[in-house]
Amino acid sequence: MSTDISRATLVLPLPSELPQTTTTVVAHLEKILRRMPRDHAVALDTGADAGAARADLLAWCGPHLDRGAAAEPTTAPNSDVHDRYFAVRRATGDSAALLAGALLASDLLVQDDLVRHGSTLDADPESMLLGVTSYLTDGKQPPVLDVPWAPADPVAAAHHRWQVGHQRFFVMLQLLAVAVRQVRRATDVAGENEAVRLFAWLCRSSAHAMRYAADFPAELYDEIRVTMVPPTVNVGFSGLQTRDHNELVAQFRTLKRSGTVDRLAPESATALHAAVREMYDAHIWVCDRFGGGSGLSLLMEHTSAGKQESGVASAVKLARQRLTHLRQEPGTPPTARPDAGRFRQRIIADVLRPDTPERVAELIRSANGRRFHPVSTGYNWGLGSRQPVEDGVTVLDLAGLNRIRAVDTRRGYAVIEPGVIQGALARRLDGTDRMLNLTGASQHTSVIGNILDRGVGLHRPRVDDLAGLELVLADGSQVRTGWWPDAGQPAAVWPHGRGPALNQLFTQSDLAVVTAATIRLLPRPEAIRILPFTFRAEALGEAVDLLRTWTAQGLVPPNTKIFNPVAARAHGIADQHLVHVCLTGTRDLVSTLSHLVTRAAYGTPLSPAPASTWCTTPTPGCRTPPTPSSSTRPATRPGRWTPRGDC
Ligand SMILES: Cc1cc2nc3c(=O)[nH]c(=O)nc-3n(C[C@H](O)[C@H](O)[C@H](O)COP(=O)(O)OP(=O)(O)OC[C@H]3O[C@@H](n4cnc5c(N)ncnc54)[C@H](O)[C@@H]3O)c2cc1C
Repeated sequence: MSTDISRATLVLPLPSELPQTTTTVVAHLEKILRRMPRDHAVALDTGADAGAARADLLAWCGPHLDRGAAAEPTTAPNSDVHDRYFAVRRATGDSAALLAGALLASDLLVQDDLVRHGSTLDADPESMLLGVTSYLTDGKQPPVLDVPWAPADPVAAAHHRWQVGHQRFFVMLQLLAVAVRQVRRATDVAGENEAVRLFAWLCRSSAHAMRYAADFPAELYDEIRVTMVPPTVNVGFSGLQTRDHNELVAQFRTLKRSGTVDRLAPESATALHAAVREMYDAHIWVCDRFGGGSGLSLLMEHTSAGKQESGVASAVKLARQRLTHLRQEPGTPPTARPDAGRFRQRIIADVLRPDTPERVAELIRSANGRRFHPVSTGYNWGLGSRQPVEDGVTVLDLAGLNRIRAVDTRRGYAVIEPGVIQGALARRLDGTDRMLNLTGASQHTSVIGNILDRGVGLHRPRVDDLAGLELVLADGSQVRTGWWPDAGQPAAVWPHGRGPALNQLFTQSDLAVVTAATIRLLPRPEAIRILPFTFRAEALGEAVDLLRTWTAQGLVPPNTKIFNPVAARAHGIADQHLVHVCLTGTRDLVSTLSHLVTRAAYGTPLSPAPASTWCTTPTPGCRTPPTPSSSTRPATRPGRWTPRGDC
């Protein structure tokens, strides 16, 4: 029994005999790496010596990685057929050593294939696909190859990739089955986090392995498909015959049944689920790449007399079934909410919820190498929600710092903490002659979070509201920038202060944690009116030009919003773009501007929405200027429609 590299045959242990933890696999990896006659990292490199090192090691692997005895044929003959098709041989013996040897041999085969044939994918396959050995042994990361697909014999190269790629995937499935066992066996939270982190990383690498197996022009797949039929293989040949995948799914079931999934910290459970989803997404991608969007899989062709389910639909269904084993029961705390942007779920080391600035400073002073990701309310929808950029980071949830420390409507400022949501501050200002520069997002979003994001309010950019910041710096010191009220010296709000102005250093930045801010409040206008227009998609350019001209000429303020047809649906508009022009001022000014704007829209692609949809808000609390007598009111020009209930 040998690892016959020349024919690219790979020896794998029986999945039922896999070790309980990756520790023994890593120990064997390190042992084999020491024994190898050439440096494995050099063989994966791009240097002048790499090709020769790879050839030497490929030749060495055959006789030297032979450690087990040939396994008996299984009771599931289709699994043997599957193994045979992909040139996999099963051995019994020291499964950790066999798996370590298979990983190293597969590293060489994959790199050799990539160097010789290139890749059709833009992604950098090496770091995730070939980085497994270096990840497990803290070794040198393989370099990015970036060789475009250009084999001399594309059909032969596609066959080779299909085989070597599948072999790589089976190695990964085995590593994953071991990593899942490790999650189940973890005895403390730190061990659990570590095991989940490893599992998630391996899942991502497996997704790359799956894409790599299909990394050849889609039109060549027909050449492959015709080889996966009798007499070469059984009727209805399918990936479900992969015993390594079946073993992994069995481990998922055990994870759920043993209560491990529900016991996991919510962040870990979410990370586990998201990582597996990423792997199944890669499977769906492969099905779709090879025409599975409308065509049937080989298995479906065989079994679905009259039941027309496409390859992609089957893959989606399969993924859903598998993922149910990894779903935590409801009751997950808010910090574990999935990322609304559907980015990869990061592994979160911890979630801390300080409720005073002093506590924030203490946590940072005692960080001892721990990295923090502060969120105010964490509703950074579409931009990562509350996900840190990297794994292993502690989320500093500041929602508990939610005091409105001061409001001065005369000078027009408020001092607020990060957990203050725009709804709360707006309500606090109800009935006063000041208002908040609200955004179009939910009332539950943080005012400070959005300012630090450099969000855009309905009246002006949110950074224009910022007057001063209270910060905890990386050394734990507490400092203030910009303008702050001084009870002894009442002064006008002047964010720029004297000397270098530092406020903006801390927006879209990771230099400090903000524990409070002074923000400016807007004078409340006597009336606010949202004037809606619609236009068809093909008029987008013309509509934008028109709105730009109106803004430049001062007809409308520079805060007009355009909603695409998807967003417009939420406002009851079907299949059209929607424009919201926001007019503010005295009632007469708003009324007059409304008529001027609607008149300017005549004959343009902008159609005024029916007057019944106009939204006009008289604003109690505003200091009302004297109303002009009716004789001085400007005559309104009759338009195609008349505003409902004047301001
Ligand atoms: C339908 C809809 C409409 C929207 N409309 C608008 C709109 O009109 N204008 C607009 O700007 N956005 C809009 N958004 C986006 C959304 O409102 C913002 O993403 C949201 O305000 C940010 O979330 P947050 O306030 O919870 O901030 P968080 O998620 O808490 O924080 C945002 C960012 O700032 C950092 N941060 C937060 N707090 C601190 C702190 N105390 N110290 C240091 N760093 C910190 C975080 O690390 C994060 O990167 C809209 C979203 C939706 C879904």
